[in-house]
Amino acid sequence: MQQLQEFKQLINGSPLKVVITTHHKPDADALGSSLALYNYLIAKGHDAKVIAPTDYPRFLNWMKGQADVLVFNEEKQTAHCTALIAEADLICCLDFSALSRINEMGPFVAESKAVKLLVDHHLNPENFAQYELWDSKAAATCELIYDLIVMLGDEALIDKEIAECIYAGIMTDTGSFRHPVTSAKVHRTIAGLIERGADNSRVHKLVYDNNNEARLRMLGYILLNRLVVLKEYATAYIAITKDELKEFNSMTGDTEGFVNYALSIEGIVLAALIIDRTEAVKISFRSTGSFSVNKFARNHFNGGGHENASGGRSDLSLDETVAKFLALLPTYQEELLHVSEQLNN
Ligand code: 5GP
Ligand code: MN
Repeated sequence: MQQLQEFKQLINGSPLKVVITTHHKPDADALGSSLALYNYLIAKGHDAKVIAPTDYPRFLNWMKGQADVLVFNEEKQTAHCTALIAEADLICCLDFSALSRINEMGPFVAESKAVKLLVDHHLNPENFAQYELWDSKAAATCELIYDLIVMLGDEALIDKEIAECIYAGIMTDTGSFRHPVTSAKVHRTIAGLIERGADNSRVHKLVYDNNNEARLRMLGYILLNRLVVLKEYATAYIAITKDELKEFNSMTGDTEGFVNYALSIEGIVLAALIIDRTEAVKISFRSTGSFSVNKFARNHFNGGGHENASGGRSDLSLDETVAKFLALLPTYQEELLHVSEQLNN
């Protein structure tokens, strides 16, 4: 991080009003990094608040400080949140690097006079922050938050609760330590977290073994009835309608991980989960090998993310979005089959 000394002085100086924010529909890395930084800044004597643009999955509600998270798009909280953003001395933007990722909050953050810190690992960042700890090779934003606290000389302030927030983000963003980003350094960071008290087995259970019956039945239904495998394009996809979401009483986070089942099929290089959400049709893309879903999502679905995990959106209907996706596949067929062949050898 450039200007580390300057930032260190700021953090070690007089108490600051800090707003921490992250991308909409925060996942474990987004909320974990936010609450790790929140608990650290409180320990440093600052007046910190976490504002999430929207709600987040209930399997994250064990994280320390979670009950104090403000949700910007909840009617009764918006005015309070905009005041906090306007009055902040420091705004920390975590796990996103394009202001569109925080929805209606974007313009308020852009206009605030606060100093801004960006900590992120997504591709194609917008440069809106004075201080940046950005590394697209980092496994998770949580890994960078750990590095930041260590760089600031405050490793001793990483207690069990902070360590578990950080652990959760690294665990989920690495697919439980199996994606190629899982470097030796990641494992060393994890060792440090366990030494600082993180109960790794407990965090796995809290995040992954927290299904309710409806979610599990929806997964069964989806895999049986909605998974489409197109071997000729090394592609598999799942489309979910509004009615299906309603039928299974689907809550935020309930569809997380579904796309990985499509990608786990032998020979599949590209997987998509296409969901008819209230605001738009949302798409999750995953890939293996050198096929870039970051480019695919950016070029065709107004999105982005990482090379092998990205998201996008469409203002077309669900059926039209699926048709658009299918119509694109012939253009990529050669590349998809080539990657599939490479992976089989
Ligand atoms: P997911 O499919 O789990 O929602 O997202 C996969 C990855 O892509 C995450 O790192 C997420 O932050 C990013 N992502 C998801 N949707 C979008 C989007 O619309 N735009 C951008 N730039 N990134 C996205
Ligand atoms: Mn992340």
